[in-house]
Amino acid sequence: MSTEQTSVDRFDSLLEKRGITRRRFLEFCGVVAVTLGLSEALIPSIHEVIAESVIGKTEGKLTPVVWLELASCTGCTESFAQVDTPDVATAVLDLLSLNYSETLSAGAGFSLEEAKEQTIEAGGYILVIEGAQMEGWDGNALRIANNKGTEIVKHAASKAIAVVNVGSCSVDGGWQAAAPNPGGAIGIQKFLNKVKDAGEIDYEIPPIVNIPSCPVNPEHVVAVLVDELLLGKHPDLNKQNKPSLIFDQYIHDNCPRRGHFENGEFVYKFGSEEEKKGYCLYPLGCKGPQTKSNCPIVRWNRRVSWCVESGAPCIGCATADPTTNKNNWVSVNTPFLKRFRNIHLGSLIFQPVTVSLIVGGVVAGLLVIHGIGMKAAGRTKGAPFETMRKWDRKHPNRAVAAQASTEDKEESKEGGDK
Ligand code: SF4
Ligand code: SF4
Repeated sequence: MSTEQTSVDRFDSLLEKRGITRRRFLEFCGVVAVTLGLSEALIPSIHEVIAESVIGKTEGKLTPVVWLELASCTGCTESFAQVDTPDVATAVLDLLSLNYSETLSAGAGFSLEEAKEQTIEAGGYILVIEGAQMEGWDGNALRIANNKGTEIVKHAASKAIAVVNVGSCSVDGGWQAAAPNPGGAIGIQKFLNKVKDAGEIDYEIPPIVNIPSCPVNPEHVVAVLVDELLLGKHPDLNKQNKPSLIFDQYIHDNCPRRGHFENGEFVYKFGSEEEKKGYCLYPLGCKGPQTKSNCPIVRWNRRVSWCVESGAPCIGCATADPTTNKNNWVSVNTPFLKRFRNIHLGSLIFQPVTVSLIVGGVVAGLLVIHGIGMKAAGRTKGAPFETMRKWDRKHPNRAVAAQASTEDKEESKEGGDK
């Protein structure tokens, strides 16, 4: 009997040293399969392909990853870096050839910048970008290692085999691009198209994959990286270059509170009985009906829960649209806990409900004033013909109409005599 260890065995013992059991890793492979829309029957293959690739790293076979962080809160990196309780996704990313990450790399400063340069020079890497590009002040709104963020991205994208934008800030500029956007924040796809059109780069823009959410869901990123790096294929993308299998389904359609929505059972106030009963959060601003993502299926925090399940309305963070600057997701969806968008009148900001109450109040006030005017003018007693009609009813034989019909009869009689 052979005692030689397979790649899978060696990989499993590597995970075990990091406190991750084989069973837990297979669960993770199941989530990757669901996220990629693959059959559960392929779970062992995913396990195998990840194992072989990670073990292959020692032979220098693995595609390197460069992870740039631009204008962001580091939330997307933080989404992975659960250092106190390492998650499977973190371990996989760690085990993959993550050659440069300002936050996750052990190295720092000059040596790390050098590692990035060598990776870019060699080409054939995946460029992951977290955070918005900042074009303000001629690109000086964001500088890293004495370089403008604009120049860093132009250079880093030059030899990448794919650009993967993680988190809504890199997809449409995110919070930084919300009005009034003084720093000139912009999403990466839009930025690369812009510099290409302006002739500032002379290479073809690599295929772009946009993975929105705030922060990005680690399961989504790992699934895309597994697809790109390990299974060797580019995920199917929709018109916004978002992976279709993840971002082409409405949250509302998979929400466990959907039954309450259909029954008209809503939560109108936090802390209410309705909230305790788990009713639908639509009146509290839930953007689930207009947001596309598989959050209710893949969930968050090692698949424990997700926004609506934990009692918070969906704020629509996955709606970031890289194709336009007009619909920045933060500007469109705020105020988050209100059902309607704010209306801006100069420096004043109103909710539509407030405006309708004000308009209703003004109309009611005008009607009251109109009534007072009628009363003062004595016009509330009715028009004079009302009095005449009353008199006519009391004196039917002498009424004008009766007289007229008598005269008509007499006239026709006279005409007949002739
Ligand atoms: S809580 Fe939100 S996503 Fe869920 S059913 Fe209600 S409106 Fe839809
Ligand atoms: S449920 Fe809504 S707010 Fe929560 S992560 Fe998904 S898209 Fe974002």
